[in-house]
Amino acid sequence: MSIQGIDAASVHRLTSGQVVTDLQTCVKELVENSLDAGATSIEVRFKQHGLGSIEVIDNGSGIAPADYDSVALKHYTSKLATFDDIASVRTFGFRGEALSSLCALCESVTVLTATEDEAPMGTVLEFDARGRVKSRSGKAARQRGTTVTLTKLFAPLPVRRKDLEKNAKREFGKALGLLQAYALVPCSKENGGVRFTVSNQLDVGGRKVQLQTKGNGSIQAAVTALWGPKAMENVVTLDIAFDVEAERGALKRLAPTTHVQVKGLISKFMPGCGRQSSDRQYLFVNGRPCNLSKVQKAFNETYRLFNATQTPFVIADIILPTDTCDINVSPDKRTIFLHSESNLIVALKVCLAASLHSFLTSAAGGTG
Ligand code: ADP
Ligand code: MG
Repeated sequence: MSIQGIDAASVHRLTSGQVVTDLQTCVKELVENSLDAGATSIEVRFKQHGLGSIEVIDNGSGIAPADYDSVALKHYTSKLATFDDIASVRTFGFRGEALSSLCALCESVTVLTATEDEAPMGTVLEFDARGRVKSRSGKAARQRGTTVTLTKLFAPLPVRRKDLEKNAKREFGKALGLLQAYALVPCSKENGGVRFTVSNQLDVGGRKVQLQTKGNGSIQAAVTALWGPKAMENVVTLDIAFDVEAERGALKRLAPTTHVQVKGLISKFMPGCGRQSSDRQYLFVNGRPCNLSKVQKAFNETYRLFNATQTPFVIADIILPTDTCDINVSPDKRTIFLHSESNLIVALKVCLAASLHSFLTSAAGGTG
Protein backbone atom coordinates (compact mmCIF):
# COMPACT_ATOMS: atom_id res chain seq x y z
CA MET A 1 0.00 0.00 0.00
CA SER A 2 1.36 3.42 -0.86
CA ILE A 3 1.66 6.13 1.74
CA GLN A 4 -1.36 8.42 1.77
CA GLY A 5 -2.76 11.06 4.07
CA ILE A 6 -5.75 10.05 6.16
CA ASP A 7 -8.83 12.08 5.27
CA ALA A 8 -9.62 14.92 7.65
CA ALA A 9 -12.88 13.44 8.97
CA SER A 10 -11.15 10.18 9.90
CA VAL A 11 -8.27 12.00 11.55
CA HIS A 12 -10.78 13.93 13.59
CA ARG A 13 -12.51 10.81 14.80
CA LEU A 14 -9.21 9.02 15.51
CA THR A 15 -7.78 11.80 17.65
CA SER A 16 -11.09 12.62 19.37
CA GLY A 17 -11.23 9.11 20.79
CA GLN A 18 -7.95 9.83 22.54
CA VAL A 19 -9.01 13.12 24.09
CA VAL A 20 -12.23 11.75 25.53
CA THR A 21 -11.57 8.18 26.54
CA ASP A 22 -14.43 7.48 28.94
CA LEU A 23 -17.40 9.00 30.76
CA GLN A 24 -15.12 10.48 33.38
CA THR A 25 -12.99 12.46 30.93
CA CYS A 26 -16.10 13.59 29.07
CA VAL A 27 -17.60 15.11 32.22
CA LYS A 28 -14.25 16.47 33.31
CA GLU A 29 -13.85 18.44 30.09
CA LEU A 30 -17.29 20.01 30.43
CA VAL A 31 -16.85 20.94 34.07
CA GLU A 32 -13.42 22.40 33.36
CA ASN A 33 -14.94 24.59 30.67
CA SER A 34 -17.49 25.86 33.18
CA LEU A 35 -14.78 26.61 35.73
CA ASP A 36 -12.70 28.34 33.05
CA ALA A 37 -15.75 30.47 32.22
CA GLY A 38 -15.77 31.69 35.82
CA ALA A 39 -18.88 29.80 36.91
CA THR A 40 -19.81 29.90 40.59
CA SER A 41 -22.54 27.32 40.17
CA ILE A 42 -22.28 24.12 38.13
CA GLU A 43 -24.95 21.50 37.75
CA VAL A 44 -24.24 18.13 36.14
CA ARG A 45 -27.28 16.12 35.13
CA PHE A 46 -26.91 12.54 34.00
CA LYS A 47 -29.62 10.41 32.42
CA GLN A 48 -29.27 6.65 32.86
CA HIS A 49 -25.87 7.04 34.45
CA GLY A 50 -24.69 9.02 31.43
CA LEU A 51 -25.78 6.47 28.82
CA GLY A 52 -28.74 8.60 27.79
CA SER A 53 -27.44 12.13 28.16
CA ILE A 54 -25.05 14.32 30.08
CA GLU A 55 -25.84 17.95 30.69
CA VAL A 56 -23.66 20.57 32.33
CA ILE A 57 -25.30 23.85 33.29
CA ASP A 58 -23.22 26.77 34.48
CA ASN A 59 -23.57 30.45 35.30
CA GLY A 60 -20.26 31.41 33.72
CA SER A 61 -19.51 34.06 31.14
CA GLY A 62 -21.54 32.50 28.34
CA ILE A 63 -20.32 32.38 24.76
CA ALA A 64 -20.40 35.55 22.67
CA PRO A 65 -22.29 35.37 19.34
CA ALA A 66 -19.08 36.17 17.44
CA ASP A 67 -17.60 32.90 18.77
CA TYR A 68 -20.49 30.56 17.95
CA ASP A 69 -18.94 29.31 14.73
CA SER A 70 -15.53 28.53 16.17
CA VAL A 71 -16.40 27.27 19.63
CA ALA A 72 -16.40 23.56 18.71
CA LEU A 73 -13.78 23.61 15.95
CA LYS A 74 -10.64 21.63 16.64
CA HIS A 75 -7.81 23.68 18.15
CA TYR A 76 -9.95 26.77 18.52
CA THR A 77 -9.62 28.13 22.01
CA SER A 78 -10.00 31.40 23.85
CA LYS A 79 -7.30 30.40 26.33
CA LEU A 80 -3.98 30.12 24.50
CA ALA A 81 -2.64 31.94 21.46
CA THR A 82 0.94 30.72 21.10
CA PHE A 83 2.88 27.79 22.49
CA ASP A 84 4.88 30.01 24.84
CA ASP A 85 1.71 31.01 26.68
CA ILE A 86 1.60 27.53 28.13
CA ALA A 87 4.22 28.41 30.73
CA SER A 88 1.79 30.82 32.33
CA VAL A 89 -1.56 29.19 31.59
CA ARG A 90 -3.91 29.01 34.57
CA THR A 91 -7.03 27.76 32.86
CA PHE A 92 -7.91 24.08 32.79
CA GLY A 93 -8.26 23.98 29.02
CA PHE A 94 -5.90 25.38 26.43
CA ARG A 95 -5.81 23.01 23.45
CA GLY A 96 -9.29 23.61 22.05
CA GLU A 97 -10.00 19.91 21.68
CA ALA A 98 -12.80 18.97 24.04
CA LEU A 99 -15.91 20.30 22.34
CA SER A 100 -14.73 19.29 18.89
CA SER A 101 -13.92 15.80 20.16
CA LEU A 102 -17.29 15.46 21.87
CA CYS A 103 -18.99 16.41 18.60
CA ALA A 104 -17.26 13.47 16.94
CA LEU A 105 -18.09 11.10 19.79
CA CYS A 106 -21.74 11.78 20.61
CA GLU A 107 -25.03 11.33 18.85
CA SER A 108 -25.68 15.05 19.34
CA VAL A 109 -24.12 18.10 20.98
CA THR A 110 -26.28 21.09 21.81
CA VAL A 111 -25.28 24.32 23.51
CA LEU A 112 -27.62 26.87 25.00
CA THR A 113 -25.74 30.00 25.94
CA ALA A 114 -26.20 33.62 26.90
CA THR A 115 -23.70 36.30 27.83
CA GLU A 116 -24.63 39.17 30.10
CA ASP A 117 -25.83 41.07 27.01
CA GLU A 118 -28.17 38.35 25.71
CA ALA A 119 -29.62 37.21 29.03
CA PRO A 120 -32.41 36.38 29.83
CA MET A 121 -32.67 34.99 26.30
CA GLY A 122 -30.09 32.48 25.08
CA THR A 123 -29.26 30.95 21.72
CA VAL A 124 -29.47 27.23 20.97
CA LEU A 125 -26.58 25.91 18.88
CA GLU A 126 -26.45 22.45 17.38
CA PHE A 127 -23.21 21.05 16.07
CA ASP A 128 -22.32 18.41 13.48
CA ALA A 129 -19.69 15.70 13.96
CA ARG A 130 -16.94 18.04 12.81
CA GLY A 131 -17.88 20.74 15.30
CA ARG A 132 -19.53 23.03 12.76
CA VAL A 133 -22.71 24.83 13.71
CA LYS A 134 -25.62 22.96 12.12
CA SER A 135 -28.30 25.28 13.37
CA ARG A 136 -28.39 28.41 15.46
CA SER A 137 -31.95 29.42 15.02
CA GLY A 138 -33.39 28.51 18.39
CA LYS A 139 -33.90 30.88 21.29
CA ALA A 140 -34.67 29.84 24.83
CA ALA A 141 -34.82 31.41 28.25
CA ARG A 142 -31.34 31.49 29.73
CA GLN A 143 -29.73 33.53 32.45
CA ARG A 144 -26.07 34.30 31.86
CA GLY A 145 -24.16 31.06 31.37
CA THR A 146 -23.96 27.97 29.26
CA THR A 147 -25.71 24.61 29.10
CA VAL A 148 -23.99 21.86 27.13
CA THR A 149 -26.05 18.76 26.40
CA LEU A 150 -24.60 15.57 24.97
CA THR A 151 -26.62 12.54 23.98
CA LYS A 152 -25.42 8.96 23.56
CA LEU A 153 -21.74 9.30 24.31
CA PHE A 154 -19.64 7.02 22.05
CA ALA A 155 -22.52 6.19 19.71
CA PRO A 156 -20.11 6.52 16.72
CA LEU A 157 -17.59 4.10 18.32
CA PRO A 158 -19.56 0.84 18.72
CA VAL A 159 -16.94 -1.06 20.73
CA ARG A 160 -16.53 1.71 23.25
CA ARG A 161 -20.27 2.31 23.44
CA LYS A 162 -20.85 -1.38 24.22
CA ASP A 163 -18.22 -1.20 26.93
CA LEU A 164 -19.84 1.88 28.44
CA GLU A 165 -23.24 0.18 28.41
CA LYS A 166 -21.84 -2.92 30.04
CA ASN A 167 -20.04 -1.01 32.79
CA ALA A 168 -22.41 1.94 33.10
CA LYS A 169 -22.59 1.96 36.89
CA ARG A 170 -18.89 1.55 37.40
CA GLU A 171 -18.11 4.29 34.89
CA PHE A 172 -20.66 6.52 36.56
CA GLY A 173 -18.98 5.88 39.91
CA LYS A 174 -15.63 6.90 38.47
CA ALA A 175 -17.14 10.07 37.05
CA LEU A 176 -18.64 10.89 40.46
CA GLY A 177 -15.25 10.35 42.09
CA LEU A 178 -13.68 12.84 39.72
CA LEU A 179 -16.48 15.32 40.26
CA GLN A 180 -15.77 15.14 43.98
CA ALA A 181 -12.23 16.25 43.25
CA TYR A 182 -13.55 19.17 41.18
CA ALA A 183 -15.98 20.10 43.92
CA LEU A 184 -12.90 20.51 46.14
CA VAL A 185 -10.82 22.48 43.63
CA PRO A 186 -11.92 26.02 44.29
CA CYS A 187 -11.58 25.52 48.04
CA SER A 188 -7.85 25.59 47.74
CA LYS A 189 -8.01 28.80 45.77
CA GLU A 190 -9.15 32.05 47.20
CA ASN A 191 -11.99 32.74 44.85
CA GLY A 192 -15.00 31.89 46.93
CA GLY A 193 -15.86 28.41 45.80
CA VAL A 194 -18.27 26.83 43.40
CA ARG A 195 -21.67 25.35 44.12
CA PHE A 196 -21.79 21.84 42.65
CA THR A 197 -24.87 19.71 42.11
CA VAL A 198 -24.70 16.32 40.45
CA SER A 199 -27.80 14.24 39.79
CA ASN A 200 -28.84 11.15 37.88
CA GLN A 201 -32.17 10.22 36.39
CA LEU A 202 -33.19 6.65 35.68
CA ASP A 203 -36.01 5.46 33.41
CA VAL A 204 -38.15 4.77 36.42
CA GLY A 205 -38.12 6.90 39.53
CA GLY A 206 -37.15 10.52 39.77
CA ARG A 207 -33.91 12.40 39.60
CA LYS A 208 -31.57 11.56 42.42
CA VAL A 209 -29.05 14.05 43.75
CA GLN A 210 -25.68 12.33 44.05
CA LEU A 211 -23.50 15.13 45.25
CA GLN A 212 -24.07 18.68 46.37
CA THR A 213 -21.88 21.42 47.77
CA LYS A 214 -22.92 24.88 48.83
CA GLY A 215 -20.03 26.72 47.29
CA ASN A 216 -19.29 29.03 50.19
CA GLY A 217 -15.60 28.61 49.64
CA SER A 218 -14.53 26.73 52.73
CA ILE A 219 -12.84 23.41 52.25
CA GLN A 220 -14.33 22.21 55.53
CA ALA A 221 -17.83 22.91 54.26
CA ALA A 222 -17.13 21.09 51.01
CA VAL A 223 -15.76 18.04 52.81
CA THR A 224 -18.80 17.98 55.11
CA ALA A 225 -21.12 18.28 52.13
CA LEU A 226 -19.40 15.44 50.32
CA TRP A 227 -18.87 12.95 53.14
CA GLY A 228 -20.84 14.13 56.14
CA PRO A 229 -19.77 15.91 59.36
CA LYS A 230 -17.90 12.85 60.63
CA ALA A 231 -15.34 13.26 57.87
CA MET A 232 -14.21 16.56 59.41
CA GLU A 233 -13.87 15.20 62.94
CA ASN A 234 -10.44 13.77 62.45
CA VAL A 235 -8.73 16.11 60.08
CA VAL A 236 -6.39 19.01 60.59
CA THR A 237 -5.36 21.84 58.33
CA LEU A 238 -2.35 21.25 56.18
CA ASP A 239 -0.41 24.40 55.46
CA ILE A 240 3.27 24.05 54.80
CA ALA A 241 5.80 25.87 52.67
CA PHE A 242 9.35 25.12 51.66
CA ASP A 243 11.98 25.99 49.07
CA VAL A 244 13.08 23.51 46.47
CA GLU A 245 16.53 23.77 45.04
CA ALA A 246 16.74 23.40 41.29
CA GLU A 247 18.31 20.13 40.23
CA ARG A 248 21.49 20.05 38.21
CA GLY A 249 20.97 21.01 34.59
CA ALA A 250 17.95 23.10 35.50
CA LEU A 251 16.43 25.44 33.00
CA LYS A 252 18.40 28.67 32.88
CA ARG A 253 15.34 30.87 33.03
CA LEU A 254 14.25 29.36 36.34
CA ALA A 255 15.29 30.74 39.69
CA PRO A 256 17.78 28.61 41.67
CA THR A 257 15.10 27.88 44.24
CA THR A 258 11.36 27.52 43.89
CA HIS A 259 9.00 28.40 46.68
CA VAL A 260 6.33 25.75 47.14
CA GLN A 261 3.24 25.82 49.33
CA VAL A 262 1.07 22.84 50.17
CA LYS A 263 -2.41 23.61 51.45
CA GLY A 264 -5.34 21.44 52.36
CA LEU A 265 -6.38 18.92 54.96
CA ILE A 266 -4.95 15.72 56.35
CA SER A 267 -6.41 13.17 58.74
CA LYS A 268 -5.07 12.85 62.24
CA PHE A 269 -3.86 9.53 63.52
CA MET A 270 -6.73 7.44 64.67
CA PRO A 271 -5.54 4.54 66.75
CA GLY A 272 -8.01 1.71 66.81
CA CYS A 273 -9.86 3.03 63.78
CA GLY A 274 -8.68 0.22 61.58
CA ARG A 275 -7.19 0.72 58.20
CA GLN A 276 -8.02 3.91 56.40
CA SER A 277 -8.44 3.39 52.72
CA SER A 278 -6.40 5.48 50.35
CA ASP A 279 -9.29 6.31 48.05
CA ARG A 280 -9.74 9.69 49.66
CA GLN A 281 -6.52 11.22 48.52
CA TYR A 282 -6.90 14.27 46.34
CA LEU A 283 -3.86 15.99 44.96
CA PHE A 284 -3.85 19.22 42.99
CA VAL A 285 -1.20 21.34 41.34
CA ASN A 286 -2.21 24.99 41.37
CA GLY A 287 -5.80 23.89 41.84
CA ARG A 288 -5.73 21.32 39.02
CA PRO A 289 -6.68 17.78 40.07
CA CYS A 290 -3.99 15.39 38.90
CA ASN A 291 -2.29 12.05 39.36
CA LEU A 292 0.98 12.52 41.18
CA SER A 293 1.98 9.03 42.17
CA LYS A 294 5.37 10.00 43.59
CA VAL A 295 3.93 12.82 45.68
CA GLN A 296 1.15 10.53 46.87
CA LYS A 297 3.76 7.96 47.85
CA ALA A 298 5.66 10.66 49.74
CA PHE A 299 2.53 11.46 51.75
CA ASN A 300 1.89 7.82 52.56
CA GLU A 301 5.47 7.03 53.46
CA THR A 302 5.80 10.03 55.74
CA TYR A 303 2.50 9.26 57.42
CA ARG A 304 3.64 5.71 57.99
CA LEU A 305 6.54 6.96 60.11
CA PHE A 306 3.96 7.93 62.70
CA ASN A 307 1.21 5.49 61.98
CA ALA A 308 2.13 2.08 60.68
CA THR A 309 -1.35 0.88 59.88
CA GLN A 310 -3.13 3.70 58.17
CA THR A 311 -2.95 5.83 55.08
CA PRO A 312 -4.20 9.39 55.42
CA PHE A 313 -7.26 11.06 54.07
CA VAL A 314 -5.58 13.93 52.31
CA ILE A 315 -6.53 16.91 50.22
CA ALA A 316 -3.45 18.80 49.13
CA ASP A 317 -2.97 21.59 46.66
CA ILE A 318 0.64 22.07 45.65
CA ILE A 319 1.09 25.69 44.75
CA LEU A 320 4.13 26.59 42.68
CA PRO A 321 5.08 28.93 39.82
CA THR A 322 3.33 27.85 36.61
CA ASP A 323 6.59 27.78 34.67
CA THR A 324 8.01 25.08 36.95
CA CYS A 325 5.52 22.45 35.82
CA ASP A 326 4.42 21.09 32.46
CA ILE A 327 0.75 20.22 32.18
CA ASN A 328 0.83 19.39 28.49
CA VAL A 329 1.92 15.78 28.99
CA SER A 330 -1.14 13.63 28.45
CA PRO A 331 -4.41 14.35 26.62
CA ASP A 332 -6.34 14.38 29.89
CA LYS A 333 -3.73 16.66 31.56
CA ARG A 334 -3.79 14.53 34.70
CA THR A 335 -0.12 13.71 34.36
CA ILE A 336 2.09 16.66 35.21
CA PHE A 337 5.83 17.03 34.99
CA LEU A 338 7.20 18.85 38.00
CA HIS A 339 10.53 20.53 37.62
CA SER A 340 13.12 19.23 40.11
CA GLU A 341 10.60 16.66 41.30
CA SER A 342 13.04 14.55 43.33
CA ASN A 343 14.20 17.58 45.31
CA LEU A 344 10.61 18.66 45.78
CA ILE A 345 9.71 15.28 47.20
CA VAL A 346 12.63 15.24 49.62
CA ALA A 347 11.74 18.73 50.86
CA LEU A 348 8.06 17.83 51.10
CA LYS A 349 8.79 14.77 53.20
CA VAL A 350 10.95 16.72 55.64
CA CYS A 351 8.42 19.49 56.01
CA LEU A 352 5.46 17.13 56.24
CA ALA A 353 7.17 15.00 58.89
CA ALA A 354 7.75 18.11 61.02
CA SER A 355 4.15 19.10 60.59
CA LEU A 356 2.81 15.64 61.44
CA HIS A 357 5.12 15.52 64.42
CA SER A 358 3.51 18.66 65.81
CA PHE A 359 0.07 17.01 65.62
CA LEU A 360 1.48 14.19 67.68
CA THR A 361 2.84 16.40 70.36
CA SER A 362 -0.32 18.49 70.49
CA ALA A 363 -3.55 17.03 71.83
CA ALA A 364 -4.44 15.95 68.32
CA GLY A 365 -3.60 12.32 68.04
CA GLY A 366 -1.72 9.23 69.05
CA THR A 367 0.43 6.73 67.26
CA GLY A 368 -0.89 3.80 65.33
P1 ADP B 1 -10.44 24.69 25.53
O1 ADP B 1 -11.11 24.52 26.84
O2 ADP B 1 -9.11 23.98 25.48
O3 ADP B 1 -10.34 26.11 25.08
P2 ADP B 1 -12.82 23.42 24.46
O4 ADP B 1 -13.06 22.66 23.22
O5 ADP B 1 -13.08 22.72 25.73
O6 ADP B 1 -11.31 23.92 24.40
O7 ADP B 1 -13.66 24.76 24.42
C1 ADP B 1 -13.49 25.64 23.33
C2 ADP B 1 -13.88 27.05 23.70
O8 ADP B 1 -15.28 27.12 23.90
C3 ADP B 1 -13.28 27.56 24.98
O9 ADP B 1 -11.99 28.11 24.77
C4 ADP B 1 -14.30 28.60 25.45
O10 ADP B 1 -14.04 29.84 24.84
C5 ADP B 1 -15.61 28.07 24.88
N1 ADP B 1 -16.42 27.36 25.92
C6 ADP B 1 -16.56 26.02 26.06
N2 ADP B 1 -17.38 25.73 27.10
C7 ADP B 1 -17.77 26.91 27.63
C8 ADP B 1 -18.61 27.28 28.75
N3 ADP B 1 -19.20 26.37 29.53
N4 ADP B 1 -18.76 28.62 28.98
C9 ADP B 1 -18.16 29.55 28.22
N5 ADP B 1 -17.36 29.26 27.17
C10 ADP B 1 -17.16 27.97 26.86
MG1 MG C 1 -11.97 22.84 27.58
